[in-house]
Amino acid sequence: MDDVRRVVKQVWGYDALLPLQEEAIGAVLAQRDSIVVLPTGGGKSLCYQAPAASIGKLAVVVSPLISLMKDQVDGLAAVGVPAAFLNSSLGADERRAVEAGAARGQYRLLYVAPERLVLPTCLGLLRRAGVAFFAIDEAHCISQWGHDFRPEYRQLGVLREAFPDVAIHAFTATATPRVRTDIAAELTLRNPAILVGSFDRSNLVYRVRRRTDRLRQVIEALDRHRGEAGIVYCIRRAEVDQLSEALRRRGLRAVRYHAGLADAERKRAQDEFIAERADVVVATVAFGMGIDRSDVRFVIHAGMPKSIEHYQQEAGRAGRDGLPAECLLLYSGGDYGLWRSILMAEGLPAPGAIPKLGEMYGYCQAVACRHRSLVEYFGQTYGAASCGACDVCLGEVTTEDGSAELAGQILACVLETGGRFGADYVADVLRGAETARVARLRHNRLAAYGRLRQVPKATLRGWLAELEAQGCLARDGDEYPTLAVTVRGRRVLLGDEAVTLTRAVARPAGGPRPVRPPVPAGPGGATRDDELFEALRALRRAMAEERGIPPYLIFSDASLRAMAHERPTTPEAFLQIKGVGLRKLQELGPRFLACIRGHGDPDPSSG
Ligand code: ADP
Ligand code: ZN
Repeated sequence: MDDVRRVVKQVWGYDALLPLQEEAIGAVLAQRDSIVVLPTGGGKSLCYQAPAASIGKLAVVVSPLISLMKDQVDGLAAVGVPAAFLNSSLGADERRAVEAGAARGQYRLLYVAPERLVLPTCLGLLRRAGVAFFAIDEAHCISQWGHDFRPEYRQLGVLREAFPDVAIHAFTATATPRVRTDIAAELTLRNPAILVGSFDRSNLVYRVRRRTDRLRQVIEALDRHRGEAGIVYCIRRAEVDQLSEALRRRGLRAVRYHAGLADAERKRAQDEFIAERADVVVATVAFGMGIDRSDVRFVIHAGMPKSIEHYQQEAGRAGRDGLPAECLLLYSGGDYGLWRSILMAEGLPAPGAIPKLGEMYGYCQAVACRHRSLVEYFGQTYGAASCGACDVCLGEVTTEDGSAELAGQILACVLETGGRFGADYVADVLRGAETARVARLRHNRLAAYGRLRQVPKATLRGWLAELEAQGCLARDGDEYPTLAVTVRGRRVLLGDEAVTLTRAVARPAGGPRPVRPPVPAGPGGATRDDELFEALRALRRAMAEERGIPPYLIFSDASLRAMAHERPTTPEAFLQIKGVGLRKLQELGPRFLACIRGHGDPDPSSG
């Protein structure tokens, strides 16, 4: 273990291990099978990369995504660890060169696509080369209960037979026990060490807002993150197109990404974002897997995701470098209905899909600490009474007053109109709209007519969807769905049961607090650090371009922040910065040191 610690310090420049990394590395060294469950940003890669670099034998890493393999290999090259990958992106010559290299024992890590690994020729090659251990990345892909089942992962079961003496280590960010059991069974793990980290992402600030004006709300959030990297998720492709266009018109460096675009445009968008030529990606959920940019400072959901698992995964792409980041979720009751019809249109929805949708909606509406809600959803307990890092704990949300009465008024309107109309029409009646249809049906004579005249239509539709999600209204028909009052709804009308309708109310004074990394005390300290940080970022971008690798493989934001604050001017001091190992000191140190020196002495007040 001491050897590994030394390697972690010298090669990666980390003084300490993150929670559970020591245990996970211990399992690798002890050649005991393991399942390591850590959230995104938890530092899973180091758990197999560090022992591989330290024991001097070949580790084989299974990874589902071609782009990630290349990234990881480039990242290892940047710290001086020899590694290579085998997947369908290689030409025949390149592949033979890698195979020869592996046979000669040239690499510490070999990344292999699952479908290639299980080929007899590949297994034979690895047997000859000698394998120290297998690391299965994104191991939940093996389980049908995970959110990303990949049939090719199923074949990995052959590894145990082909290499009975070699330990297998599975890594995933998916928390459910069911997935864990599946992984152990499919890989025939033997008494695996099961290491499950905390699912709380304490550096993320979670906010949930009812959506009233998508563009305005997105721009308001973007204003808190000028020049920073982020992702805006939309449910539908058309929304992606509109929103990205609107942002570009406002001069933002935004690109779009969804499955309806040509491969070339998708690739270009991804490349622009990775190379830091674009700040914002507006995308459907098709975007994100395979993006390792660690300095994503915000993730905005412009529509509600279809499950909390999806939300955790997508929002989790923010702040992988451990620095503060914001996750804003904008939802409306209509999102619930939209997802429901999407799920129904896909045929019989997967078991649990509709309840999961309901749970997601419940999360949006609940006025409870977001950190706590998420952690508890994944079956863990949350220690603190208040997180200080979500809209609820920051006091940005209150519930609507008189909500019980409100629910009754809405339900009564549905009842009075006979339960034969859709949400749009019911909202018209409640608002007292003077439409031809209302007049023709004489609904302007009902008691409910115009009862909620002052409420915007979008809000009314949201409440109707909320009542549906809470089982007070039932929807019938797919093309022109109508709403009817359920048994539960009748109980609410009779006052036997209560429901709460929520509406986020922005804090009267100050507005949402901008998310900023902790800055040193002292007048002007922040500005001085920020200036140097931006200069270092520009240098990082330039050096990445020269080398043809993504900027985040040069240094993380966390390292640049530390440099901007500590202002090392000697190689010894530079080596003390987190994320600076010997190789980076040698290759990148001179130019970064020159940049720092060019910015003058450290601020005396910032120690
Ligand atoms: P995961 O695969 O679990 O999402 P990564 O392996 O990508 O996480 O690591 C997340 C971030 O944490 C990376 O920027 C990585 O460099 C950093 N990191 C990993 N281990 C350590 C450590 N011991 N100390 C400091 N930073 C670390
Ligand atoms: Zn909280």
